Amino acid sequence: MIAALTKKTTDYSDQKHFAFGFDCDRCEREWTSSDIPFEQSEFSTVVHEETKSLLWSEAHRVAFERANLEAQFHFNYCARFEQWVCDDCFQFCEGADEDVCFNCYARAGRDLKKGIRGYNP
Ligand SMILES: [Zn+2]
Ligand SMILES: [Zn+2]
Repeated sequence: MIAALTKKTTDYSDQKHFAFGFDCDRCEREWTSSDIPFEQSEFSTVVHEETKSLLWSEAHRVAFERANLEAQFHFNYCARFEQWVCDDCFQFCEGADEDVCFNCYARAGRDLKKGIRGYNP
């Protein structure tokens, strides 16, 4: 299993489909990945239970990797805190060298804030 993008994830997968919840590292609001069905139809009807569970585990692993990738487009990375946060917790700093989460933004010095459009000290 690869490391999850955010600190808290929930596995909603069952025998028929795969889905994962990722919580924003800051506000902990959950985002759920696209539902991925577990395709069994391609295998013959007489599949050994053990084989089935092996196939499921493998598909589950792949689905989790895919969900992690998808999550990277939903969450934003704050390099200062090394955390992934949702759009609501993220400050895009136009003209500044970096974009940061609200925690860092609140603590950020003048230099960073200067880069933000509309910022008027
Ligand atoms: Zn958030
Ligand atoms: Zn931050």
